[in-house]
Amino acid sequence: MTHPVLTVGSVAFDSIRTPFGEVSRVVGGAATYFSIAASFFSEVRLVAVVGEDFGERHMQVFGDRRIDLEGLQRVPGDTFRWKGEYKLDLNARETIYTHLNVFQDFSPRVPERFRSTPIVFLANIHPALQMEVLDQIEAPRFVALDTMNYWIDGTPAELERVLQRVDAVVINDEEARQLSGKANLVQAAREIREMGPERVVIKRGEHGVLLTRGDGFFAAPGLPLEEVCDPTGAGDTFAGGFIGYLTAAGDLSDDAVTRAAICGSAMASLSVEDFGLSRLLSLTDEDIRSRFEAFRRLTHFDELDY
Ligand code: AMP
Repeated sequence: MTHPVLTVGSVAFDSIRTPFGEVSRVVGGAATYFSIAASFFSEVRLVAVVGEDFGERHMQVFGDRRIDLEGLQRVPGDTFRWKGEYKLDLNARETIYTHLNVFQDFSPRVPERFRSTPIVFLANIHPALQMEVLDQIEAPRFVALDTMNYWIDGTPAELERVLQRVDAVVINDEEARQLSGKANLVQAAREIREMGPERVVIKRGEHGVLLTRGDGFFAAPGLPLEEVCDPTGAGDTFAGGFIGYLTAAGDLSDDAVTRAAICGSAMASLSVEDFGLSRLLSLTDEDIRSRFEAFRRLTHFDELDY
């Protein structure tokens, strides 16, 4: 049996517009993307809240995957809603609105049986909620955190406190610059390390990923894709592949973390091929393995021979 990973974060209704189309009120949310991606590698324990408008039909995205929903509460009110819009440069997105709704008064209660989960991923949500969840876990072995400009701007003090208690941070380049105040990503990673997390993973969208390794760095490019439809959730899906693999491997060495970064990149590159969760929901293990191999081929070269 593989180890489980526990996550807290948004479960949402998203509306998304890209130059290639538009969807409205589809199931999304950081913890949703994370859980579905991670469940291909390990068992996931989800802690989140939805409103009464989140019906059985919507629950089907979690399907018969290895996602334990005992920590997913349904309460009176509306589910979290977010709308984002992308122009031709899919790396830049504009948030049209964020309605916290049921997350506003949410007090997460981690089920008793989840409290000894060794690996924890604090997906994107209010840092005070991330902290509340972390406080309920007994002696976690490895804790990673994601966040967003919304919280970096809006709740910096709470974010600073939770950062002091995590082992790894997984954020995108824009957020890394904003959090550190440094334009250069190498400097940004070092600065964020000073805030607490030993390991800093910076997602760079179509440009790949940069992460700290030992005293230096590891970087992987993005896969040159013909079809990119919707980047929503790519960051959370990356985190799902990354943490899901580490959890399954039960190994936090630099080598395992490097493979995990490619698993994350493979999952994210698949997710962006269709709108919302669509591609993730139709994914097979074979798709994942063959995408991992595509990354190996992309980055392989021989020794210098002159
Ligand atoms: P990503 O594209 O990986 O940054 O994540 C997009 C997902 O994050 C969407 O499914 C949204 O529902 C969710 N999201 C957007 N804004 C927030 C926020 N402020 N807090 C938590 N989740 C959010």
